[in-house]
This record gives sequence, C-alpha cells and structure tokens, in this order.
Amino acid sequence: MPENSDSNTNSNSKLDADAGFNTRLIHQDYEPPAGFDAFPVGIHHASTVLFNNVAAMRARTWQDKSAYTYGLHGTPTSFTLEARLAEIEQGNYCLLAPSGLAAITLIDMALLQSGDHILMPDNVYGPNRDLADWLSRSFGISVRYYDPLTGAGIASLIEANTKLVWVEAPGSVSMEVPDVPAICAAAHARDVLVALDNTWSGGVAFPAFAHGVDIIMQALTKYQSGGSDVLMGAVITRDKALNACLQAAHMRLGLGVGMDDVYLVLRNLATLRLRFNAHDQSAREIATWLKTRPEISKVLHPALPDCPGHEIWKRDFTGAGGLFSVLFDSKYSEEQTDCFVDSLKLFKIGFSWGGAHSLCVPYRIEQMRNQWQGHGTLVRFNIGLEDAADLIADIEQAMMLALATPA
Ligand SMILES: *Cc1c(COP(=O)(O)O)cnc(C)c1O
Repeated sequence: MPENSDSNTNSNSKLDADAGFNTRLIHQDYEPPAGFDAFPVGIHHASTVLFNNVAAMRARTWQDKSAYTYGLHGTPTSFTLEARLAEIEQGNYCLLAPSGLAAITLIDMALLQSGDHILMPDNVYGPNRDLADWLSRSFGISVRYYDPLTGAGIASLIEANTKLVWVEAPGSVSMEVPDVPAICAAAHARDVLVALDNTWSGGVAFPAFAHGVDIIMQALTKYQSGGSDVLMGAVITRDKALNACLQAAHMRLGLGVGMDDVYLVLRNLATLRLRFNAHDQSAREIATWLKTRPEISKVLHPALPDCPGHEIWKRDFTGAGGLFSVLFDSKYSEEQTDCFVDSLKLFKIGFSWGGAHSLCVPYRIEQMRNQWQGHGTLVRFNIGLEDAADLIADIEQAMMLALATPA
C-alpha cells in the first residue's frame, strides 16, 4: 500500500475492486487537497489516533505532546487550547479537564496521599471545600481551614506533612483578597506547593506565576467560555516534573474533554480581555452606585475599600471583572432580601458567571464558613454585558418593591 497517494482523483486505488458496500462506506480513499488555511482551529474528533506503522506507534508516548496517541490525551484542537491557556497565564504546561471542579480534583488526586495535610482558605469555592472534607473523611488526608487574610501568618499553620496550600484570589462569594505572594513565600520556605483557583481574574487580571504560585487552576466555564454553555477546567504549571505528576493523574482519572466544547472556548478566547474589561467597567459602576444605597451595608468588591484585602488587590491585580457581592443592612430579613432577588428582571437567578447575562444569587454565608463576622444577607452579583444603567434601574426597582418597609 503506498504511504501517500499523490493523486486527488477518486480512483479507489487502495480498495480491492470487489470490496463490499460496508467496506466502501468505511474506507473512502478521498483525500482533500492540501493547503487549506483559515483562522479557526479545526475540530478534530478522535478516540483512535492512527499510526503509519508499528514502529511509529511504539515511538510515541502519550506524555509527549509533540505527537498524538489517543483521543483521551488530545487532538490538535485540544493541544491548541492548552498552548493558548499556558500562554495567557505565562505558564509552560496546561491540562484540560471536563469542568473546573474536575481540574480541582485532578490537583488534589495528583499531589496528595494518605497521611498528608492540606491548608484551605475558609472562603474557598464550596465544592473544593467539600472535596477536601471528603478526602479527610475517607482518604486519610487532614485539612485545616485558614483565615483567607492571614498572609504570612500561614507559616505557623504549616506542619511537617503539609503538602499543599490552596488559595482563591479572591474567594468567589465573600471576596476577601489574599496576600498571595506572602502565602507563597511562607509555603515555599517549607517546600510546600501552592495551588491557586484563579478563576475570578480569568487569567487576565492576576499574573499568578509572577506572584509565586506553583499551580494555576481555571474554571474555563466562566470568562474563557463566556457563553454560559460550556463546562471545562484547566490546570496550568511552569515546572516540568510537576506537570508530569499532574499528567499521570490526568490519565489515570480519564479526564478527557469533548472537542466541540474545546472549540467553543477557543472561539471566544480572542475577546477574553475585551469582555473581561467590559464586565469590569460595568461592575465597578454598579458597585459604586450600590455603595451609595442605604439598603446596603457593605459592597464586597475588591476594587472598593469595603472589601477585605482591597489594599492587596490594588497592589497585585490589574482588573476586577464582573463578580462581586454585597451585604444588605441587617435590618432586612432573609425573606425580604429573597424577595429582592425574586423581583429582579434582567438579573436571573443562577450559579456560575462570566457569560453575557447578569446573574444574582443569595448565599447563607454563615453556614458555609468556620468563621464569619459579617452581618446581613450576602447577595452575589455577576454583572453581564447589558447596559449598566439598565442593570442599576433593575436593582433599584427590586429594592423599591422588596425593601420599602423594613421588617
Ligand atoms: C465555577 C467555579 C469553579 C468550578 O467550575 P465548574 O466548571 O463549574 O466545575 C471553581 N472555582 C470557582 C471559583 C468557580 O467560580
């Protein structure tokens, strides 16, 4: 069988003249002309990847991303997204996972074994906390929750068996901004790795490796997708050995992603910064307006002084995106603040963020934390890409409806 036919004619040259209909359905000889060029990356679907001969099959390994071995380990489509995400975060390696949470699980499973200790911020993303508690209940890993504002104080919590410090910058419900460089310095002094959930900044507004982080986790479901239609996560690193360890766990856990989804993320990456900045501008306008409202006791937006860690945000971040929270004055009952959320028209009720549509969710924050000093109902806003004036008018009408008479 010739390796490469130099003909584009429909000669059926590789098929026996008497090949049956089913065989003809499967073994078409047509090869499209070479040299197709366009901006989008092709959507390469594959479970099976083909090798020209046995020697080529034996020469390739799934760890080596200079070649293809099996769909689970990637196709040109996913390799391209991985390379772009590594570039955006100024890292060297990237692994894709089927959700942000799967990326978190990958990090824990790759790096931890029974007997290890991990440090988690008390404001960490709820399912990350739930995973840590499960590891602690069932897998012999001990977990300690720390004050997200502790900074260098993390040093006193590091034990001989501490393997990993998780950080979220900022915590995506209560918004405390941690001192990432101080936490990293203290952890590295004891050879402990730091993993950052960098989803809030979208990889746009916080150069995490420059601030000392070892592992960046992103929920691409948010800004990178931008469409409220894809679930995906990424784990990005600089260190080769660390990536190899994560890659082994990635294979063992079978964390494949669908190439149609990969394509959707790739398609929206070009506008990532434009969208992020638009969310940011609108969110700051709305947060600043909320600050003037008597119904609101605190605006937990990292770019505003009410927010714990605001000074650190000013020092380390270059933007803020669309996600922030408020605390309602404690004179309002939860029933009233729920009624406020129900009365919103443009803001829809739903989890996640980073898409074009504005969202709003009330949280029972005191039930989510070991330590919580705030008062009043916490409500989180995701500011979408609608006109800020319309969103403000929506919040105002809902306040009038729900909060006109204090309980
Ligand atoms: C959404 C989110 C995740 C998880 O992402 P999914 O793709 O929904 O699993 C993790 N961390 C943060 C901060 C998030 O907002």
